[in-house]
Amino acid sequence: MRGSKPNVPLTNTTRVPTRWRGEVERVLIPRSEIARRLRVMASEIQRDHQENELVVVSLLNGTVMFLADLVRHLSLPLRLDFIGVSSYRANTESGELVFTKELRLDVRGRDVLLVDDILDTGKTISSVLEKLSKLSPRRINVCVLLDKPSRRVRPVQADYIGFEIPDVFVVGYGLDYAERYRNLPFVGVLQPHVYKELHVSAIPESTSGPEPLPSPAGL
Ligand code: 5GP
Ligand code: MG
Repeated sequence: MRGSKPNVPLTNTTRVPTRWRGEVERVLIPRSEIARRLRVMASEIQRDHQENELVVVSLLNGTVMFLADLVRHLSLPLRLDFIGVSSYRANTESGELVFTKELRLDVRGRDVLLVDDILDTGKTISSVLEKLSKLSPRRINVCVLLDKPSRRVRPVQADYIGFEIPDVFVVGYGLDYAERYRNLPFVGVLQPHVYKELHVSAIPESTSGPEPLPSPAGL
């Protein structure tokens, strides 16, 4: 189960919808492909979690769309909770993580599915895993929509991966740039002028934006 095969390669041929052309350079993963992949991921998760009630722990805010679409395909008894985590990479070199919302449910002895939008350096997931492990769950599996293995600095692997992507900064389907673009229905790459025009002063402190702003990582 560890390192479930992501859905690669990406076809990358979808045209950017007219209304987003000014902001999005290209569609990396179209909504139809996301939907198809989520059904497969959900069936894998379901297969692996037949025995014990699951606690799904999702990291805010980037997982909103992914989580909502994923859990509606899970025909399993489960409980849902959230951890708020922000990386203050816009303002500090360290990429220090700040927890903005703590877990409410008791996960002791439970099976936990930790859901995040993207696994990049691995700092976020490894910090959250460390925190969750102290609560003595029975097991923790990690599920991410996107994986950028080339950026990893911590030895973290996900058990369920939607798509492995190259080192580009992506937005949409919940992922933001300076809190914008979460509502795009697909995963896309921004037009360079967007991050050149956005000034750091206009960006909220808690953004989990690329480092350093305003130039996205990997570009
Ligand atoms: P890590 O701690 O693994 O370096 O980064 C995880 C977090 O950084 C993700 O939850 C996400 O908030 C942010 N992140 C990393 N790469 C990207 C990206 O390409 N696009 C966006 N929008 N956020 C990213
Ligand atoms: Mg995030």
